[in-house]
Amino acid sequence: MDSNYKFDTLCVQAGYKADKGAPQVMPIVQNTTYRYYEAEDVAKLFDLESGDYMYSRLGNPTVSTLEKHMAALEGGTAAVAASSGQAATLMTILTLAEKGDHIISSSQVYGGTYNLFAVTLKKLGIDFSFIDTTSKAEDIVKMATPNTKAIFAETLANPALKVLNFKEFKEAANKLGVPLIIDNTLATPYLTKPILHGADIVLHSTTKFSDGHGTSVGGIVIEAGNFDWGKSHKFLSLTTPDESYHGLNFYEKFGDTAFSTKLRATMLRDLGGAMSPMNAFLTHQGLKTLHLRMERHTENALKLAEFLNNHNKVDWVIYPGLKTDPSYNLASMYMPKGAGGVLSFGVHGGREKGEILLRNLNLSSLVVHVGDIKTSVLHPASTTHRQMTEEEQVKAGISPELIRVSVGIEDIEDIIEDFDKALSSL
Ligand SMILES: *Cc1c(COP(=O)(O)O)cnc(C)c1O
Repeated sequence: MDSNYKFDTLCVQAGYKADKGAPQVMPIVQNTTYRYYEAEDVAKLFDLESGDYMYSRLGNPTVSTLEKHMAALEGGTAAVAASSGQAATLMTILTLAEKGDHIISSSQVYGGTYNLFAVTLKKLGIDFSFIDTTSKAEDIVKMATPNTKAIFAETLANPALKVLNFKEFKEAANKLGVPLIIDNTLATPYLTKPILHGADIVLHSTTKFSDGHGTSVGGIVIEAGNFDWGKSHKFLSLTTPDESYHGLNFYEKFGDTAFSTKLRATMLRDLGGAMSPMNAFLTHQGLKTLHLRMERHTENALKLAEFLNNHNKVDWVIYPGLKTDPSYNLASMYMPKGAGGVLSFGVHGGREKGEILLRNLNLSSLVVHVGDIKTSVLHPASTTHRQMTEEEQVKAGISPELIRVSVGIEDIEDIIEDFDKALSSL
């Protein structure tokens, strides 16, 4: 696909082009394995001498289509799809870090990411330090240890909705000589392309806006292709011979796709968190309308945010598109097309009244989800973030009364009426 095409064209067309007489839509190749005639050809697959398909845990034509599609949208050299966003994050971290290593993460991250980092990976010996998304580079650098292997953050934090200060995080990553990993799930490449702001690795929960229709759990990791792994001795797993591949050196052999090739060849192989062809098909279909959906999500979210902000029963609204929002300037700089489809707010009377409000919404659905075409609401303190202490919740940007709204692409008048009615019942 010609990468000079504009974003909207890439949404519609990237990832697959039909050969003469072939289906115009990439088919679902529902298949586990691939036939060969010479043992030597199969040996080449195992030695990574050939990039052909071998077994669907490691690669499948429908899954590859999604990978190419997303790599084109984010402007990366390659991508690897995963069974979920969580699997994408886990495989990314484990490709870079092992027992004894350290990673600096924004404290405003998705609840599942926080648990993975602060509890599960910590148990396996990888240590995490958490720092505010708006921190200065020098403060981020101060958190580092000799074994710091990466910096991790979300473009638009879920559910705190703080916009990342890319410049400071990138400067810190440069100073430490480590990659900047960005979870771009909530912003999507329509609103911002983290690679243009210095991200070395971008990942997504494709479950959210990428799919967009609430059909498929999935994740994806995209490699920017410009991090020099050989610059320091920090990334020996990429720059020295891999014993599980007869001494293959990923950095030398694969260059600007070294990270994603290593992730596929070791993490998909060993952990098995592969995306199914069916989910890849549905997610690829979803991406074709990402630009149109994001445009409407963003437009509707701003209108609902303004409505709530002016409502006398609403205490506060967080939406980076509101001029009064603390993230407004960062949002204008990094997300000029709009501040995304998610907002949060709190009503007078706190948590208790908030729960009544949720009960009285009708069009909007109470679901553990964001990024759906249908308007979705959730109370994080009692659900996605309930495993955290109240102090940890506050650090993650979640107050007890916070209600998160993922604004859908219905008619905005119907959405506003739904909230208006529920608010008047309080
Ligand atoms: C949902 C989400 C994840 C986890 O993705 P799953 O597909 O649910 O495993 C990670 N990061 C962000 C920002 C998310 O919203």
